[in-house]
Amino acid sequence: MTEDVRVFLVGAGPGDPGLITRRGLELLRACDVVLYDRLVSPALLDEAPAAAERVFVGKKVGEVLPQATIDALIVEHARAGRRVVRLKGGDPFVFGRGADEAQALAAAGIRFEIVPGITSAVAVPAYAGIPVTHSGVSSSFTVLTAHESAARPDSPERWRQLASGAQTLVFLMGVGALEDTVERLIDAGRDADEPAAIIEWGTTPQQRTIVATLATIADAAREAGIQPPATTIVGEVVRLRTAVEWFEARPLFGLRVVVTRPKIDSASMTQALSDLGADVIHAPVLEIADPPAWDELDGALKRLDDDAFEWAVFASAHAVAKTFERLAALGLDARAFRNSKVAAVGPSTQEALVARGINPDLVPSTYTAKELARSLGSGSGSIFLPRPVEAPRGIVDNLKSAGWDVVEVAAYETRPAEITDEIKARISQADFDVVTFLSPSAVGAFTDLFGSSLEGKLVACIGPSTAAAAEARGLRVDLVPEEHTAEGLIAALVDAKPPR
Ligand code: SAH
Repeated sequence: MTEDVRVFLVGAGPGDPGLITRRGLELLRACDVVLYDRLVSPALLDEAPAAAERVFVGKKVGEVLPQATIDALIVEHARAGRRVVRLKGGDPFVFGRGADEAQALAAAGIRFEIVPGITSAVAVPAYAGIPVTHSGVSSSFTVLTAHESAARPDSPERWRQLASGAQTLVFLMGVGALEDTVERLIDAGRDADEPAAIIEWGTTPQQRTIVATLATIADAAREAGIQPPATTIVGEVVRLRTAVEWFEARPLFGLRVVVTRPKIDSASMTQALSDLGADVIHAPVLEIADPPAWDELDGALKRLDDDAFEWAVFASAHAVAKTFERLAALGLDARAFRNSKVAAVGPSTQEALVARGINPDLVPSTYTAKELARSLGSGSGSIFLPRPVEAPRGIVDNLKSAGWDVVEVAAYETRPAEITDEIKARISQADFDVVTFLSPSAVGAFTDLFGSSLEGKLVACIGPSTAAAAEARGLRVDLVPEEHTAEGLIAALVDAKPPR
């Protein structure tokens, strides 16, 4: 019998959670325990199974957790028969002490695998628009630590070799020792006027880049208050940033945007905002739950199957999902709609229907209750309207006044959800620029939690009924997109270019 591999030393990449390797992510998603460092993105920890144990073994600056303690902990978890992922910032073997851990495992007779990661030495400059090599400019680079430690070169001879050895120099660690490092390099013959850049929190929405010269970079970093983690790069390649800068140039770069949508439908909005550079603070103040009872919906679905309705009107993708869940529970399917016409408010509701084999007969040109009533015109037939338990009156009133007999049924409930203490703290401390609301109930849940004083913050609402709910709660609404969708709201945010 071959012994199982128990421990995977995985590089997490430099910060952007998208920069882990495919192999690394697969292993993370299948582990029993993950031991992680300070610089590992929290979004990556969310990828581990919910039941997996998450063990922080990070070192704060100046507070060194003995490597032997970490080694022993890894061995202990492996011996307990768990699948262990040891998740390390960047690449495990670039100033990562990965080989110490591998040696400890080898000595303990535990099999392991190494999964390399993208090192910050290369990726952080890349996200600042600085290549470590460039033809005709630099054909070599050296990665060194600026930290005061045994790993740092000490003899003047070694400094001379470093100063003249490679065209590009990259320093990791040692923000505090930068001045000393720079001085030694200049003393050893490196050109004081050479361009240099220091990049703080590279590859994250908090990335900051300061450009100076070798002689002035330490002062510039101090004045700007640069803190670890930061990477410094020295060489002519720094000049390329002017043309190659891209990450910090994205339209919403660094803008702190609160997304209040429920977890189950926030993924695409969160991704779209992140892709534009925003620092997304996901505060799902609501969750979608089953209604207290199914009788109303079940009764209406049986009537639907008996052709009792002229129209079925869906105002959200949740209403579609719950309706189809119940149809299946009743032994019915999309054929229950065979003699009714179907209307969908908004493109995501339309998509949810199409995905279930129903091409809606009507999608109002703007996604409001008013426009829906206008498009349906007046009539006296019956309308099936699956809704949240406590829904705003808009749609029903509009349809009733046009003569329709509206059968409203509770199909789901939106209720307050737990959000993490960390996110609560960010919002309470006003650590954001924009808050987005995609439903009136989100406004209610958010203001219940955090109150209505959002001085200096931009309030963005998806459409008029959400905006009305916000105003009723005493908020000043700054932005309502013309197109009442998440995409429309994001586009309006890009146009508005709110200050950070
Ligand atoms: N094994 C890691 C390096 C560990 S040493 C790797 O391959 O990337 C930690 C140092 O890496 C930090 O002090 C800093 O110099 C650099 N670093 C890590 N993450 C960084 C980030 N997001 N931005 C800038 N520098 C970073």
